[in-house]
Amino acid sequence: MRKLVNPNNYCPCGSNQKYKKCCQPKGIDYFIKPGGKIIREQPLTPEARQALERQKQEFATKYGRAVSEEEENLMRLNEFSNVNAVIEQDLLKAGASAETIYAFRKTGILVSKENINQVSPQELIAWESAIQEYRRSNPR
Ligand SMILES: [Zn+2]
Repeated sequence: MRKLVNPNNYCPCGSNQKYKKCCQPKGIDYFIKPGGKIIREQPLTPEARQALERQKQEFATKYGRAVSEEEENLMRLNEFSNVNAVIEQDLLKAGASAETIYAFRKTGILVSKENINQVSPQELIAWESAIQEYRRSNPR
């Protein structure tokens, strides 16, 4: 769970005012992550919220799982390349094979047993040719 900045604390924006008198009334949320890092969350317009929901659904279809909190934060900031970097880190941690990492970098998608029926035929072709490409250039 994310923890909100206490309204009586100094505002993380550095204004030297209390959060409740500074960014809170403007609808800006600050969250404290478990490591102590503070994340700023701008209120989204209805259009941006819709776009985010769409991106989250696309993500779930692509990767066969829901977005993590960290990935959602990056999406809100439109830092999609960072989202990919986070996914890649998770893949490495989970012990994904080198060819999977390669194909993910190349195609931006992740095909697994769980989502193979949800990816489009074009995506599947791109994925499989990336895997083949990796195998050709890295023969065992
Ligand atoms: Zn502030």
